[in-house]
Amino acid sequence: MSAIQQSSNISFTEIKNVFDKQQNNLHRLIAITATDRIKKLKRLRETILSHQQDFRDAMFADYRKPAPEVDLIEIYVILTEIKQAIKNLYRWTGKQKVKTPFSLFGTSSYIQYEPKGLTLVIAPWNFPIQLSICPLVSSIAAGNAVILKPSEFTPQTSSLIKKVLFEVFPENEVAVIEGNAEVATYLLSLKFNHIFFTGSSSVGKIVMKAAAEHLASVTLELGGKSPVIVDDTADIETAARRIASGKLTNCGQVCLAPDYAFVHQSKKVDFLSAYEKQVKKMYGGSDQALLSGDYTRIVNSNHLLRLKRYLDDAVQKGANIELGGVIIDFENYFSPTVLTNLKEDMLVAQEEIFGPILLVYTYTDLTEVIRHINSKEKPLALYIFSASKRTINLLLGKISAGGVTVNDIAIHFYNHNLPFGGVNNSGIGKGHGEWAFREFSNAKGVLTQWSPIPIIEMMYPPFTKGTKKLIDFTLKWF
Ligand code: NAD
Repeated sequence: MSAIQQSSNISFTEIKNVFDKQQNNLHRLIAITATDRIKKLKRLRETILSHQQDFRDAMFADYRKPAPEVDLIEIYVILTEIKQAIKNLYRWTGKQKVKTPFSLFGTSSYIQYEPKGLTLVIAPWNFPIQLSICPLVSSIAAGNAVILKPSEFTPQTSSLIKKVLFEVFPENEVAVIEGNAEVATYLLSLKFNHIFFTGSSSVGKIVMKAAAEHLASVTLELGGKSPVIVDDTADIETAARRIASGKLTNCGQVCLAPDYAFVHQSKKVDFLSAYEKQVKKMYGGSDQALLSGDYTRIVNSNHLLRLKRYLDDAVQKGANIELGGVIIDFENYFSPTVLTNLKEDMLVAQEEIFGPILLVYTYTDLTEVIRHINSKEKPLALYIFSASKRTINLLLGKISAGGVTVNDIAIHFYNHNLPFGGVNNSGIGKGHGEWAFREFSNAKGVLTQWSPIPIIEMMYPPFTKGTKKLIDFTLKWF
């Protein structure tokens, strides 16, 4: 590793200095009350709002993300995360009493959530503002110090995040270190207490290995292929409208985007035509999306090439392009695209798509669908469009997924009372609201002995006949 990494011109020595400053400040920071944490969160909220236009501009400069999407999926999500924390922080940080078993008669117990200490947040580029700041909010709410490394692929947004956070926090509480994988690797070598990583499953494995070195706890918010099932009782127009929106927001560069759809054979034609109709309504049609100010670009040429490779490979192996398939290199433009006649050896059927290509399979028997999905890694999300409660319950019971939205796409993400995250390959641990607060906290169990003659003392050695009887009695009755 070089002493100075290239992408952000910060040396590893400087990074270590920031880390040491946070470590030295930790004793002061973890003693800060809920009231003071709330004040910080309010200041953060005001500062973010005062830079709302700057965030829109930065995101447009990075990859033409439309301003309303920045407002809704970046700023709004952060505001709800902050609101939730402010509203509930006294409860979350307060002593949470638990029951006492009879064998411990004379004691009382509670859980106290305490800060973990030094925390590292590593964020991806696809929602670079909220995926950086939401975990940061939870970590501050929990009373920690935070080093945040945003993505190198959204340089305008990442440097704005740094500027904004610097207005609110001293470096010994919150610091932003910009940089690439080399910087992230260096950060991962430091002894953090908790690492909150959002990104791909392959990098997630690297993060978890590095965390094992210090036995740091991890939250891994990862990706994968999220399926959608449209059965023969579903309202096809509604399903197509919501799937098109879920697939094409941010040009499909969404961890929660539906990756592939299983549509009942009898509804295939209706679904394809309804999907095309929705694309026309939202973006003027697959051939006109280039001219729409509401259609985002692919983040960079590498990702565009990756998607082009998927498409070429699929077509070469016999896939039909039902819609789109238009690529304009110098614009990083990939049109809304639908493929059918898919085979398992196609790259697009194996890899997370993370782009505006929807795969449409058909089925006649739901057990085939269940078998197909369960033969793959557990998805981050499962979507079911059906009017049949029986079918919905059957699918919920048979398919494991990080989260589920029934009759819509991805909106379970917006309910901060729900845990958000994946399972195994799609993630470990949960984000949002109290769930994220707990990820960043140590749940300290505290028991106090009040009795001058506790029952447990009667079981100390020497183990007389009477003691043994008491132990037998305890085993039998308590
Ligand atoms: P990525 O894994 O390539 O990068 C994420 C972060 O990790 C970046 O900050 C990057 O600099 C850093 N990184 C890259 N290589 C690294 C290495 N070797 N060691 C340590 N850190 C490294 O992911 P991405 O391309 O930025 O984002 C897309 C992926 O993220 C998709 O798989 C998507 O599904 C997933 N994602 C998941 C969620 C979620 O909430 N579950 C949200 C958004 C994106």
